[in-house]
Amino acid sequence: MLPSVLLLSTGGTIAGRGDASTRLNSYAAGALSTEELLAAVPELHQLASFQVEAIANVDSADLQFGHWNQLVLRIRAAFAADPHLVGVVITHGTNTLEETAWLLDLLIDDPRPVVLVGAMRPATALSADGPLNLFQAVQVAVSLKARGLGVLVVMDGEIHSARVVSKVATQGVGAFASPGAGPLGWLDDAGVHLPSARTQREIPFAGLQLPELWPEVAILHGCVNPPAALIQALLMAGVEGLVFTGTGAGQLSALERRALEAWSGSLPLMLRSNRCGAGPVHGHADDHQLGLLPAGTLNPQKARVLLLLALIAGLDRSGLQRLLQATPMTVG
Ligand code: ASP
Repeated sequence: MLPSVLLLSTGGTIAGRGDASTRLNSYAAGALSTEELLAAVPELHQLASFQVEAIANVDSADLQFGHWNQLVLRIRAAFAADPHLVGVVITHGTNTLEETAWLLDLLIDDPRPVVLVGAMRPATALSADGPLNLFQAVQVAVSLKARGLGVLVVMDGEIHSARVVSKVATQGVGAFASPGAGPLGWLDDAGVHLPSARTQREIPFAGLQLPELWPEVAILHGCVNPPAALIQALLMAGVEGLVFTGTGAGQLSALERRALEAWSGSLPLMLRSNRCGAGPVHGHADDHQLGLLPAGTLNPQKARVLLLLALIAGLDRSGLQRLLQATPMTVG
């Protein structure tokens, strides 16, 4: 009997349709149904039997917290209800794929693989990359080697951990990398290879119930002479969380630090990340006074996902600090 896989689709370029096979940039994302994606790769039926469901069919920039709620509920329910289910594959737009992957990594407590996959070329393009990416994602989902490794991302024959993977190029295949860590493994004719995977990991928000209304967490991008009005506007609007995409190793400008010092209301939960794309952010002497915490190697968008869940879980700054220390957020 073939292993059973739950295939969830959310849209993106992997389900994109253009009006000519030579169109690589102009096409409609999220145009093909889950059934059409499956039908395009008949080889998939040698690997598994499928239950297919659409969570959404959108460009991943248009995903909402409600879609995240649906994904989490569906995956938790499927694992709880079906002991024969071997894994879950999620097709996803590449632009925000790493955020959904990291979110699920923090929330799904089951050793069975959850694998996210996308494509950089629409399904209608010459040499579309989606079909092979999907085939390889299913190869990983049914592999015993992939159990207990947390949420995985499969692109271009590489297997990445949700913690570190990031989209690092706007176009072309090979747009995904795991900065500072490298991929966990790869796929070839001999199957799935995961030589550097470790199975010990924490799932900090395993039992967390997600609300209908999520907290507001904003990301501020560091640059020369940043507009002070922006940070003041966010504080006045009452954001509950703030991620600074600091320059270099997560440096805030004096202007931003002054705006935090001058603020008399309660401060949001705040993380300092960096805009370099690789490398850690360490603690600074004035972090405590300003209410900041360093995000380690989490990129700004992943630091935001962590803050969202920390706020939903009701953590304060010291709770978040304990979480950052207890959970290896900073390693690949
Ligand atoms: N626009 C696409 C998205 O949904 C990009 C992609 O999937 O490659 O993120």
